[in-house]
Amino acid sequence: MTTKAPSQSALAHLAYCQQHQGEMLSLLRHMVEIESPSDDKAAVDRMGAFLAQVFERLGGKVTFYPQQQAGNHLKAEFSAGVSGRASGGASGGTSGRDSGGASGRDSGKPALLLGHFDTVWSMGTLAKMPFRIEDGRAFGPGVYDMKAGITMMIFALRALKAAGAAHRPVTVLLDTDEEVGSATGRPVVEATAKECEAVLVLEPSQGPKGHLKTSRKGVGDITVRVRGRASHSGVDFEKGRSAIVELARQLLEIVKFTDVGRGITVNPGVIQGGTRSNVIAAEAWAEVDLRIARAADAALLEQKFAALKPFDPDCTIELTGGINRPPMERTEGTVRLFGIAREIATAMGMPLEESSTGGGSDGNFTSALGVPTLDGLGAVGEGAHAANESVVVEELFSRTALLAGLVQSL
Ligand SMILES: [Zn+2]
Repeated sequence: MTTKAPSQSALAHLAYCQQHQGEMLSLLRHMVEIESPSDDKAAVDRMGAFLAQVFERLGGKVTFYPQQQAGNHLKAEFSAGVSGRASGGASGGTSGRDSGGASGRDSGKPALLLGHFDTVWSMGTLAKMPFRIEDGRAFGPGVYDMKAGITMMIFALRALKAAGAAHRPVTVLLDTDEEVGSATGRPVVEATAKECEAVLVLEPSQGPKGHLKTSRKGVGDITVRVRGRASHSGVDFEKGRSAIVELARQLLEIVKFTDVGRGITVNPGVIQGGTRSNVIAAEAWAEVDLRIARAADAALLEQKFAALKPFDPDCTIELTGGINRPPMERTEGTVRLFGIAREIATAMGMPLEESSTGGGSDGNFTSALGVPTLDGLGAVGEGAHAANESVVVEELFSRTALLAGLVQSL
């Protein structure tokens, strides 16, 4: 039995997606219209219930990870595709594990398609930002980040099935609190990724040309809370210990931790404190965003914060938080995955580049575990978390074909 080269198969997948573009867009529309903000469990769970039906219809085994506050995370497992067996028929007979060699393909470990179905948009946004297609772009809350990515997963699976393509098992994992830091999604993502050969993350691609993401910065936040002593600014000025002044001095130290060349940035993005202008402020705090390019810098940076000493010995400093997403470094495994993606894209006549980004995703967790991870495989578009959020419709088909080709090549 001969196996078609992944690039040839990708062209067949592209044809499949183009033939089914109406269905693909109506699925995308339906998912955008089921609004699913991270902080609305009932809403996110409605989205999960819909997805469970879709994956079950595709032959997936669906597992929910129930949560108290967040929406229930969803896993769907698909068995290996066997060459020549299309759409549930059983014409071909040989194993899907053709050739493979030392690539690990024979291990039978699944490929993980990773994403999230929560969005940053609160319920009711749809009324002001309805789903619409205009000038070749689809608009709507969460369309780019990342309901288009989920649509692509579903149609990549359908295209593989329709083509009777041989591929290793595929696991889809979608969590529900990615936009708010993946506090409950993280352990599920990590446990699932550990069992997988490679992770393909369907987060939006980067920039107008849709670069894939081969590295992401690590992310964290630290709240710096200063406590001083309140007093009347006119009557008892000298008895007061201004938490605001102390915090201001601390922040001037903290911003020195930034080292742009090394990929470390520190941003006090929120500051609050005091009660009235005629009261010496008893309390003030700042929320500081942290980004690091290297895993080793996490501890280093946290130590610098821990070493902060009050200028005024009558003030105290309390720190909470730290790095919560390790960086996704540009590992050998990631570079290899990108190489395969580029080869398929090139054969499809599609230029493909890689980028690094300061933003984090669940790919940070899987990469930090040492599982080869390629991110930004989702839609091409713009305006994540912004009112102009949109995706380029035509690219949905080619990127879905690329995804399917990639799954086949792992
Ligand atoms: Zn996202």
